[in-house]
Amino acid sequence: MVEFTVFKGSKEGKIVESKTTKELKANEVLIKVTHSGLCGTDEHYKHEDMGLGHEGAGVIEEIGSSVTTYRKGDSVGWGYQHDACGHCKQCLTGHETLCPERKMYGYADHDQGSFAHYAIWKADFIFKIPDSIPREYAAPLNCGGATVFNVLHSFSARSTHRVGIIGFGGLGHLAIQFAHKMGCQVVVFSGTDSKKDEAMKLGADEFVATKGAKELQVSGPIDHLLITTSFQPDWKLFLPIMAPGGTLYPLTVSPDDFKIPYMPIIAGELKIQGSLVAARQVHREMFEFAAHHQIRPIIQKFPMTVEGIEESMKTLDEGKMRYRGVLVV
Ligand SMILES: [Zn+2]
Ligand SMILES: [Zn+2]
Repeated sequence: MVEFTVFKGSKEGKIVESKTTKELKANEVLIKVTHSGLCGTDEHYKHEDMGLGHEGAGVIEEIGSSVTTYRKGDSVGWGYQHDACGHCKQCLTGHETLCPERKMYGYADHDQGSFAHYAIWKADFIFKIPDSIPREYAAPLNCGGATVFNVLHSFSARSTHRVGIIGFGGLGHLAIQFAHKMGCQVVVFSGTDSKKDEAMKLGADEFVATKGAKELQVSGPIDHLLITTSFQPDWKLFLPIMAPGGTLYPLTVSPDDFKIPYMPIIAGELKIQGSLVAARQVHREMFEFAAHHQIRPIIQKFPMTVEGIEESMKTLDEGKMRYRGVLVV
């Protein structure tokens, strides 16, 4: 049995330091956490009595008796999904994120998360971090990076396509880099011009300030539009700049209904594509791609303590994070 520190949410929304005791099973690994990214989704669960965090990075300290794919000392990470049945249609076709028995952050394994000193996970659901990516940068790739890479990769963005990204934050600043390195033309939509220089440096080709705009001026229509803001955009502004047959990807979690003008969807044969997190093979390819193209999140570090977590959540909540928070043990 191993006992370790985890940081949980609570009814009052305060972060609570707690202990978890777990047994290391044959197909699992014990990971000493070194870093965790902070994702918007963590905010949604801070009122739950559960281990927070799902952008984990650390070093394997012990392996279960049947684990052959990892060794002690390996640099590894994990993300949103912890397990799946392994034998359903989705699992057998590389879509285990849609397995009816999937185990996901927020829905299963409430006794641990990546805001912790250790974690025990099934070896089949962790990822080797490429040697060239330091763990403080790898951590946010495990949800934020995988989420935006999955959209571009799994729904066929091509180098000839124009990719629009609404919002320049944790997801948006990674989406710019991935889309740019895939060879796409990248158009960033943000409230004001304040982040323009940074967006262009990361690979944006165009930057459009949307605040107060009656219509949007872009140099050509958008084939893939990623919505990374925490609120739904004004669709009346964005639908006219979509390419016929283009696709909209709502990425951030919202409790509200999806409301969108009806006729433009039909008239332009637009698609609305849901996208969850990356399946494991896509996640691996994301890491390889990020390593090869030196894609790095821009991070702001906080200590992995009750105060550090609360401070990081406050920074994110106030819209001041530049651009992904990382907790450091
Ligand atoms: Zn996340
Ligand atoms: Zn399954």
